[in-house]
Amino acid sequence: MPDTQPPLRVATNRSMVCDPAGKGPPRPRLGRPSGPRGGVLPVFLAWGVALFLLGALFAGPAHAVERSLLSQAEWALVEDDLVTPWSGSVVGFHRIERDALNLGPTKGHIWLRLTLSQDDLRAHGRWLSLRWPYFHDLRVYLVDPRASRAAGAAVVEVREAAVLGGQIDLPHYPGRLLPAFEGERQVWIHAKADGPAALALSLGKLENERAQILVRYTLFGIYFGAMLGMALYSLFLMVAVRERIYLGYAAFMVSLVIYVGVRHNILTPFFPPFLQALPPASRSQLAVALAALMGIWFVRRFLRSPSDDRLVDRVLLALALVAVASVPVSLWLAGLFSFLLVAAYSLAAVMAVIWGAVRAMRRGFGPAGFLLLAWSVFALGVLLYLGVLLGVFPYAGWVMLVLPMGSLALALLLAFALGNRIRHKHAEEAVLARERDRYRFLSERDGLTGLFNRRALDGRLEAVVGEARRNDEPLSVIVLDTDWFKDYNDRYGHLAGDDALRCLARVMKDNVRQEDECFRYGGEEFVILLPGHGLREATVVAERIREAYPGRSASELGPGGTVSIGVTQFRQGDTPNTFLARGDAALYHAKDGGRNRVELAH
Ligand code: GH3
Ligand code: MG
Ligand code: MG
Repeated sequence: MPDTQPPLRVATNRSMVCDPAGKGPPRPRLGRPSGPRGGVLPVFLAWGVALFLLGALFAGPAHAVERSLLSQAEWALVEDDLVTPWSGSVVGFHRIERDALNLGPTKGHIWLRLTLSQDDLRAHGRWLSLRWPYFHDLRVYLVDPRASRAAGAAVVEVREAAVLGGQIDLPHYPGRLLPAFEGERQVWIHAKADGPAALALSLGKLENERAQILVRYTLFGIYFGAMLGMALYSLFLMVAVRERIYLGYAAFMVSLVIYVGVRHNILTPFFPPFLQALPPASRSQLAVALAALMGIWFVRRFLRSPSDDRLVDRVLLALALVAVASVPVSLWLAGLFSFLLVAAYSLAAVMAVIWGAVRAMRRGFGPAGFLLLAWSVFALGVLLYLGVLLGVFPYAGWVMLVLPMGSLALALLLAFALGNRIRHKHAEEAVLARERDRYRFLSERDGLTGLFNRRALDGRLEAVVGEARRNDEPLSVIVLDTDWFKDYNDRYGHLAGDDALRCLARVMKDNVRQEDECFRYGGEEFVILLPGHGLREATVVAERIREAYPGRSASELGPGGTVSIGVTQFRQGDTPNTFLARGDAALYHAKDGGRNRVELAH
């Protein structure tokens, strides 16, 4: 070959410029997430909140009718029950001068003392109501200051409670209907405290009390309805979108409802006898343990702490363990200690979730922001409530609304958080799927020509041979090898050789059908699978390629400018190996026969 021969300019020839190799589909990016939304979940709950607030507005005026008594009362704390205060031997009484008393965690017998006149009863009513169901052993005595104490006739215990809610005496609204009397009486009230001790005392009309109870129970009805409706709806969602976290949400909401129901003594009638027999404080503490466990389960799933933040996960698990350990304590050692234990771990759990959410946000987990918002509102309620129980904040009537309100707000905001969380997860999964596709694409491509590589050929050959065997359909293979390519490289350089290979790939692609697949089998060897094509059609394709590459006559181009091709058709009994080997053998016939030709294996 003369040295002056110009190099092949295949790479600069537009029609032969090959597809830039190995590009693949565009790299996926985390865009606006898409997926199922929380939908009616928050809307539904927002209605609950609105109704609840409306009800609370109506509850206010009903409250105003009654008369608070504590500001004119005195209190004393006695260690044992043997002292009867009116016998005169009691420790000192303290003035209260407020509408509510909050002693914080207390153990002992609390006595309240105040004087009521006949006129008080006439003006305000005879229903003496005590708010705060943590006390037990509530007793009310009327002492006639003019009667003879020695005879004992001066002291009357008022046992009669009123039928408040229609059929039942509601345990959340303890009180006594005072008997009518002449002149003045001292009212002595005993309550046993073994935990938080806060109290409000008022005098009012029984009808007024009934009206208030109606409003309150309506509020509870709305609250329970909204929360349980949310829980139920999220169970449907769990089935529909197959996300277990919805189950966690439902369980957490139900546990909060149980806590509120227990705390307000509403659910007690539905409990089995052994739970009914427990002191109210025990029941509350058990309900807190349940809510803590459900909340921790939900949050761990939400924040993915088991895999993404082991430290937060361990802290949450440790708190869950404390909650479990608190159960026997609450059952058998109910009292100040168990109260403080429950208060401590629930406070710690609420704070741990906030800490975990902040850490998750820091590492770029978007949905944690929503969790943080929801949880902060809830935490505020828990802090307020615990502050009252611990005697840090004064007690007021609205304190009892804090937890229902707080949990409603939590349910609402968590529903948004959950929607965001699910969308985030779906977006992540979509990105992963696209990454997977991209890697599969890259792993089956040849970097130089962009054709499928040898690895892909192994898989595809197996598949098309299997199909041809099963369906008894024709299948052919074309095996190509560039002629004298070593010389071509020596002469024009490796880069020009690469261009020529890219060009051949382009020519192959341009001359086959959509369903035919082209592979780079070795350095300058290629394979084309033609499912559905018999020997004749495959030979036509092979000839077309031979003639088209590189589009000029062989004499003009010199070495490397031509290809030799072997063609064969699949025969029943062929394995992928025998099939390909026959094609290869045909190729070597073409080489032996002088190159730049197509040979068939018969
Ligand atoms: P024959 O006609 O018998 O096929 O002769 P040949 O020179 O083409 O055969 P041989 O197998 O001796 O040489 C193949 C050459 O192909 C050797 C190698 O330099 C070249 N080759 C293999 N892969 C590449 C590649 O990716 N780029 C370039 N430029 N050359 C390659
Ligand atoms: Mg070769
Ligand atoms: Mg060759």
